[in-house]
Amino acid sequence: MKFCCECGTELVLKNLEDEGMIPFCENCGEYRFPGFSTAVSMIVLNHDKTKILLIQQYGTANNVLVAGYVNKGENAEDAVIREISEELGLEVEEMGYCKSEYFPKTNTLMLNFRCTVDSESLDKINQKEIDKAEWFPLEKAREVIMPDSLAKRFLCNFLDNLL
Ligand SMILES: [Zn+2]
Repeated sequence: MKFCCECGTELVLKNLEDEGMIPFCENCGEYRFPGFSTAVSMIVLNHDKTKILLIQQYGTANNVLVAGYVNKGENAEDAVIREISEELGLEVEEMGYCKSEYFPKTNTLMLNFRCTVDSESLDKINQKEIDKAEWFPLEKAREVIMPDSLAKRFLCNFLDNLL
């Protein structure tokens, strides 16, 4: 980040107590920490952990993971529970953190979680957001998920680390 996000002035490095050298806008008189969005993506498993839920949305035929942005002031874990409820109408039973990857196209840090849900019912999915949702056996999910995608890298990381 070289220029102020508010006024466009070139930033200078200035010492901030306990933080070190931080980009500073002399015009605004404000420190400018790196700005980016945070999102959660979920490997959704059925209760027995034998199947993974993949979805298609926005009119494409790509199978991807359920994902959504973290709201300002919200914890990532709460975003996982909220997104699963809003998108799928399901309740998270338990979850764990897997890994993260920065996604340059949308300037977003993606945090990948795995979670199990209380039901395999797809009756309550949000049809405004999701075109299609389908459960796949674990290794089948690896085959059908969108190639060369962040979702696939997260899924393969999860499957490869299963004991
Ligand atoms: Zn400024």
